[in-house]
Amino acid sequence: MMSWFRKKKEDAPVAPASSAPGASVADAVPTAIPARVDRSAELIQRWDATRAEIRARVSALLAEAEAASEPLIQSVLTDLTPLTLPWNAVTPHIRDARDEISEAWNKISDEMSECEGFTHEMMFREGNKRDVASLELELMHERVYGGAMARAAERMRRRALGVDAAQHSCKQCGAALDNVTPVSQSLNVECSHCKSINTVHPGDALRMFAASGAMHLAAEAARPAGEAMKRLDQQIKQYRDAKEVPLALLIELDSMSRIYWSTRLTEEARYNPEEAKYVAGKLERYTRDTLKTLRRYWQWREYETTRAPS
Ligand SMILES: [Zn+2]
Repeated sequence: MMSWFRKKKEDAPVAPASSAPGASVADAVPTAIPARVDRSAELIQRWDATRAEIRARVSALLAEAEAASEPLIQSVLTDLTPLTLPWNAVTPHIRDARDEISEAWNKISDEMSECEGFTHEMMFREGNKRDVASLELELMHERVYGGAMARAAERMRRRALGVDAAQHSCKQCGAALDNVTPVSQSLNVECSHCKSINTVHPGDALRMFAASGAMHLAAEAARPAGEAMKRLDQQIKQYRDAKEVPLALLIELDSMSRIYWSTRLTEEARYNPEEAKYVAGKLERYTRDTLKTLRRYWQWREYETTRAPS
């Protein structure tokens, strides 16, 4: 049995990560005593090494899972389940690794708060590293898993085109219908020869692809924008004072979320044309959610007011 099928070792419930590290730290004046400086440097170094070690372990696990996925991808016909199942076993490991980062932070932040050289500012900066590391593990997991699913979905699509799109002929005159774009919905196609209208139904293979594969191709296409969006969102939240968030970051988040959602929805609709009529509405709804977040910042509200007349 491959090791990525391993069960989680323990299921102990995990306490939510403490969100306000350093609240009890005295605002120590940085001193020039080398021993103290060394001590804080040593703590930061240890904290950096811990995260790097966890990240390397997750990266190795994902590489192993990815390699083990290849034969499964090659054998996908109309069903992605055989590939999904082993990946379900990977998910708890990623959760464990993220918990591990939180626990490591809880421990080392105690030591940091006892270390005289540690200022609030340093504590805050080190605490932010926990959230960045945790998000990066999540993104790495999604990237590798999503990549495997997208490769399988693309295989599924190519095969479906070969199987389903083969020869549609006019029920009236028997001429080949050459305007058929195989999709998930039935199409009315005019025969270019006798002009009669033929209803062409997609086959099972394309239906299966549209139902289970298309979303993975859409997710893959939107992934770069999605990752950028999540990183921006996190970067914005990492400001201790919301007033200090640069407007440029908020503008970038707004535009990145539009790119993400429009790419994702448009790609989905490309494979499921019956979804096309919902794209505009969904895009509006999802961007409205981002706007709600942005409007919590005075910088953004002011920016909206100044560009309103245009
Ligand atoms: Zn015809």
